[in-house]
Amino acid sequence: MVLADLGARLNGALSQFSKSSSVDDAAIDALLKELCSALLESDVNVKLVSQLRARVKAKVKKSLEEAEKAGGREANKKNVVQKAVYDELVALVDPGTEPYKPVKGKVNVIMAVGIQGAGKTTTCTKLAVHYQRRGLRSCLVCADTFRAGAFDQLKQNATKAKIPFYGSYTETDPVAIAALGVEKFRKERFDVIIVDTSGRHKQESELFEEMVAIGAAVKPDMTVMVLDASIGQAAEGQSRAFKESSDFGAIIVTKLDGHAKGGGAISAVAATKTPIIFLGTGEHLNDLEKFAPQPFVSKLLGMGDIQGLMEHMQDMAMANPDRQKDLAKKLEQGKFSIRDWREQLSSIMSMGSLSKIASMIPGMPAGMMEGGEDEAAGKLKRMIYITDAMRQDELDSDGLIFFSFDKEGNPVGLNRRARRVAKGSGTSVREVEELLAQARMMAGMARQAGGQNGWMTAMNKMQ
Ligand code: GDP
Repeated sequence: MVLADLGARLNGALSQFSKSSSVDDAAIDALLKELCSALLESDVNVKLVSQLRARVKAKVKKSLEEAEKAGGREANKKNVVQKAVYDELVALVDPGTEPYKPVKGKVNVIMAVGIQGAGKTTTCTKLAVHYQRRGLRSCLVCADTFRAGAFDQLKQNATKAKIPFYGSYTETDPVAIAALGVEKFRKERFDVIIVDTSGRHKQESELFEEMVAIGAAVKPDMTVMVLDASIGQAAEGQSRAFKESSDFGAIIVTKLDGHAKGGGAISAVAATKTPIIFLGTGEHLNDLEKFAPQPFVSKLLGMGDIQGLMEHMQDMAMANPDRQKDLAKKLEQGKFSIRDWREQLSSIMSMGSLSKIASMIPGMPAGMMEGGEDEAAGKLKRMIYITDAMRQDELDSDGLIFFSFDKEGNPVGLNRRARRVAKGSGTSVREVEELLAQARMMAGMARQAGGQNGWMTAMNKMQ
């Protein structure tokens, strides 16, 4: 089951549950049964699934007893169950360890290991692009001399991404190349040097020996294992085997865009307590998503990933320095209007790969993560139409202008403006409400990010 399908099934089970008239054992059992069968189909280990079931049950029992004492209503009980499920899904993919974070002003050497075909070379370039966009000068070293064409492939990727690279057609010793490349870029004070290693040898033991030798020569600050999601729960065994020879500090799971066993691979890796830092979600250089347990589960369940979305916005702004200054200033002042949200939506539309980005927006259907480009584009377009039907003062507002208030100043519902906008844009009042909620959430994040230490500092922390 691909991740989007898994998300849709988990989501379906939860919404079915939220419609049930009472929160009794039967309703909870039906929910757990559906959740567990969806997880198993995604190749999550049986033991982990039954653990999750037992934990949710125990948590729910305890919380319901407490809620009962306090005279809890059905709606609250539902929340208790939903929260327990959410928390346990997060725990399932949470390795509970923090990875190394490259910092500016220091040379950070990252070495990538993994078997051939896992997506190592592609991922190295994606990683370099990721750091480069965040202001860390990045470069690539090709230390794969085993596979013919490895250097050409890296060169091609790096050139496309405008990332400096080092490699050799004549030198056959990977350790020598790695050492020379890292030395050269160290002297040039690059912030991030990524070393791509070979993934196959005639003998497995030779591969491991070579990794140890390259590691000793370049002294990486972080070794990353690149792992293909299609191996599902076998990811645990493979990462343990690698760990015995090269002590890697983090894992990137690739090919999550189309693989049936994605959930299995992620939970298996989490079980080894090694931090997953990114997920590869496609062949394109932008198809790299930062991994963090909570946003991952939120997105899976169609609840969006505001933080991820803010990062994307930052990326887009980086590509256009004038806009970046503008955005940074607004965010620092904690200002974010509907007009700003509209601008972000238009940039998202121009970025391509819509379904992935759209899935970060709360309230977007979970199915969009996969193959839903048309649907995603359609939904984003409708959001733009809504803003098109707004007047200037409405666009410049924070959205409160669309609400009616009671005497105490609490919003009691949408007002005539909202109905006018829905009518004018050929959408529904509900869609207008969704857009307003999204804009407000973004404004809230902006205030937080701006209020702390300034937007840029907040973004740098997120790296
Ligand atoms: P390496 O042998 O480990 O260096 O693997 P490559 O980087 O050459 O990748 C092997 C194949 O997997 C290539 O066709 C890549 O385009 C593809 N690939 C890498 N990462 C991803 C991903 O996240 N999703 C998809 N669909 N394909 C990927």
